[in-house]
Amino acid sequence: MITVIGSLNMDLVTYTGRMPVVGETIMGRSFKQIPGGKGANQADAIAKLGAEVRMIGCVGSDVMGNILMEALKNDGVDITQIKKIEGVSTGIASITVDSAANNCIIVVSGANNMLSIQDIQAAYDAIQTSEVVVAQLEVPLDTVKFALKTAKQLGKLTILNPAPASELDDDFLANVDILVPNDTELEMISGIQVKNENDVKKAAQVLMNKGVKELIVTLGSKGCIHINESGVKAYPAYKVNAVDTTAAGDSFIGAVAVAINEGKSFEEAIYFATAVGALTVTKEGAQSSLPLRAVVENFIKNVK
Ligand code: ADP
Repeated sequence: MITVIGSLNMDLVTYTGRMPVVGETIMGRSFKQIPGGKGANQADAIAKLGAEVRMIGCVGSDVMGNILMEALKNDGVDITQIKKIEGVSTGIASITVDSAANNCIIVVSGANNMLSIQDIQAAYDAIQTSEVVVAQLEVPLDTVKFALKTAKQLGKLTILNPAPASELDDDFLANVDILVPNDTELEMISGIQVKNENDVKKAAQVLMNKGVKELIVTLGSKGCIHINESGVKAYPAYKVNAVDTTAAGDSFIGAVAVAINEGKSFEEAIYFATAVGALTVTKEGAQSSLPLRAVVENFIKNVK
């Protein structure tokens, strides 16, 4: 069992010819409501890749919360540890995209901000019965820190996706086995500017000195770099027709969790995750773009 602790958001996407100016009302072209949130995306990716997964998180007691929970349940995620909170809205991202593909985004965390240390304590059994715990930073940092510490005390493997980028204190990182940042997040946590592979190595060393055992730095269409005490290995991305990179990182992390939980080596896990990330960018949206296991296996077989 893999447990994901994190956010659930509804992405409310408005497509328009141009952005309105302050005080102006314009007519948009179309509208889409797409389930997202890094935590929910990662849980959904894991379920679609065929692993047993449960999610710990919060939604508001509104229609959007119900839709997000239903979407996860339909894909096979155990939603029994998702709490509905009265008097607060479900997390939303209000996204406006113009015809030149520029976007303006407002995120209202809503219920995601209410995931507390007490909720993690209440979910102790859920963590105890998992092999792997996955977290990100779209819920309160103290809660994530407590969850990682609890998981480590119980001897679980912990994976942290430090997104959105945020500064983390040292005892946060001491409880992370596998850290999966992108380049911006790596800069923020290490305090080192990342311009080339050498900078990635320097920044990684800073984090390994703080207790992180394995680092996988994702670099979009440039692939990723895996670093641990025994060395550095770069993995190129697959060349695909990218239409929307939303949730690439989320699907990649979900895939790493699934493969490592199946006992695969880091090399095998990263090849698998690279295929999953590539397939995700070929489709629009967040959860709508996450590939099923059979599709991934087929893709890997055919590109070899
Ligand atoms: P994030 O969304 O967290 O910034 P990345 O954009 O680095 O994450 O994507 C995660 C992984 O997904 C990459 O390491 C790569 O393997 C794959 N990926 C991302 N963008 C592309 C792309 N345009 N083409 C092929 N693979 C991609």
